[in-house]
Amino acid sequence: MEVARLQQLDEYLSQGPASHCRDDIWARLCCQQALLALESGSYGVGAVIVDRSNELVCVAHNSVFSPGYQSGKHAEMEVLNILEQDFSHLKRHDLTLYVSLEPCLMCTGRILLSGIGQVRYLAKDKAGGFATHMHLLPPAWKNLASQLIVEHAKVDRFWSDLALTMVEEQSDQMRKKVVSAWQASVDERL
Ligand SMILES: [Zn+2]
Repeated sequence: MEVARLQQLDEYLSQGPASHCRDDIWARLCCQQALLALESGSYGVGAVIVDRSNELVCVAHNSVFSPGYQSGKHAEMEVLNILEQDFSHLKRHDLTLYVSLEPCLMCTGRILLSGIGQVRYLAKDKAGGFATHMHLLPPAWKNLASQLIVEHAKVDRFWSDLALTMVEEQSDQMRKKVVSAWQASVDERL
C-alpha cells in the first residue's frame, strides 16, 4: 500500500473527535490497530479486549498476509490467541471484545468457543458479517450464543466510518492476493 495513503489515514485518525460516546476510546484503538494491519499489507481490521473495569487487556490486528497467506489470522482470532496464551487467569465472561468490523462466520464461532461475554463492533459487514445472523446457528452453537451479547458499539460516526474505510482499502487487491494464494501462484506484483 502506498506510503502517502497510509500517512493520509494516519493523519485522519489523529484528527478524530475527543471521546464523548461510551466506546470512543476503544474505537480509536481499534482503528489504530486497523492502520497497523494495512501497513503490514493485510486487511484493515483491529481488535481490542477490555476487562470489566474497562481496562485494556490486549490488542491485535488482521495479519492474513504477513507473511504469506494465513487464512486464520483475522483480528479477533489474533486477539483471542493473545488472551488465551497470556491472560488465562481472567474470567472470560467479564471481558468485552471490540472489533472494527462485524465478525465473520469463522470469528463468531471462535468468539463463542472462547467464552467471551460481550462483543461490540464499529462497522457492520453487510456482505459477510455473521454477528447479525446468529439465528442461523445450529442448536448447540445457538445455546452458546445465548450467553453472548453482541452489539454495535456506541461511538461517534467518525469511528465507524473510518473503520469501514480502512477495511475497504485495497479490497480488490486483497481479493487477488487470496486467490493467488489459493492457486499457489506467487505473484510478486500483488
Ligand atoms: Zn473473521
